[in-house]
Amino acid sequence: MPKPIVIWPDKVLSTRTRRVAAFGAALDPLLEEMMESVRAAEGIGIAANQIGVPLAVAWVGREDGTFFEIVNPSVLEKSEPVSLEEGCLSVPHEWEQTPRFGKVRVRYQDRTGAEHELSAEGRLAHVLQHEIDHLEGTTFVEHLSQLKRGLIRKRMQKLQKDRSTEHVHGDDCDHD
Ligand SMILES: [Zn+2]
Repeated sequence: MPKPIVIWPDKVLSTRTRRVAAFGAALDPLLEEMMESVRAAEGIGIAANQIGVPLAVAWVGREDGTFFEIVNPSVLEKSEPVSLEEGCLSVPHEWEQTPRFGKVRVRYQDRTGAEHELSAEGRLAHVLQHEIDHLEGTTFVEHLSQLKRGLIRKRMQKLQKDRSTEHVHGDDCDHD
């Protein structure tokens, strides 16, 4: 069973993740768990804190459906402000126009600790901004107006409540 995705607002999503110091095999189980969860949810990226692990590790989906891992990433440069429709596995069923940048230059490490720099644009730039935001403790709804964020918070609370009710119901009843 893939680990469930944490739903916003949750403290682990609004807390900056810790930098990774131990590379190599130490990261493999976490990366595997995250991959299971992002595939099960059919996402195009996932940050470790979305499965409750407060470490600076994320998977970033490429246009061709493959993923690469980013560890301890930072955005070095961003340019060309744009507004893009955005959603998040931690904020199910919500899609909103979100202010982003069309181009970014990022620095990150891979699972072995090797350093990389990458210039990206388009969808890849978008996913990178979204995942690096997560690792810094920011969910995309933080970029929206207070009004929109408030409405989304209410819907997420209802969704959480419905899910926990379903769970109790499922435990108590026989069903086919
Ligand atoms: Zn997300």
